[in-house]
Amino acid sequence: MRVGILAVQGCVEPHRKHVEALGAELVEVRRSEEFKSIDALILPGGESTTMLKLIEHFGIWEDLLKSSKKIPFWGICAGSILMAKKVANPTQKSLGILDIDIQRNGYGRQLDSLEVAIQNYKVAFIRAPILTRVGKSCEVLADFEKKPVWVKQGRHMLTTFHSELNPQVPSPFHRAFLGT
Ligand code: GLN
Repeated sequence: MRVGILAVQGCVEPHRKHVEALGAELVEVRRSEEFKSIDALILPGGESTTMLKLIEHFGIWEDLLKSSKKIPFWGICAGSILMAKKVANPTQKSLGILDIDIQRNGYGRQLDSLEVAIQNYKVAFIRAPILTRVGKSCEVLADFEKKPVWVKQGRHMLTTFHSELNPQVPSPFHRAFLGT
């Protein structure tokens, strides 16, 4: 299995050991032709505004939309912001792949970065967004402080936290995404 990762900006490389631990290959994707040979796509954490500019620069907006109709996507933090229907704080363009609304940097200043256990596995919230609406077709798989932080909708999923930074491989979230 070839797992693509949108590699225009953000936290890309730490995913490799998790994906490889599950017997799959991690493939960096930034050009249109690279979408053809992947079976799944991770949209990593990072800075969503910068990612938007680079998606524009590489001309891959339509490729993202088209691929989302065929293969599973996993949006992580900034990646989940890119996949949302509506983005606030501030408003910005998004792909509308997931039926959720999201507020950037939702935890404010007091939570620039925090490590917590989700499903007994240490993860990190880093300037994380908050989901302000979750559509009926979404399934909430985990909460933190009564807010949904791991959500699945059909073949796609999102986590508002980073699990790839934990050295213990594979993370339960990589396992869930790859269905292994
Ligand atoms: N705060 C970032 C944004 O709004 C997301 C942070 C992250 O991906 N860790 O794009």
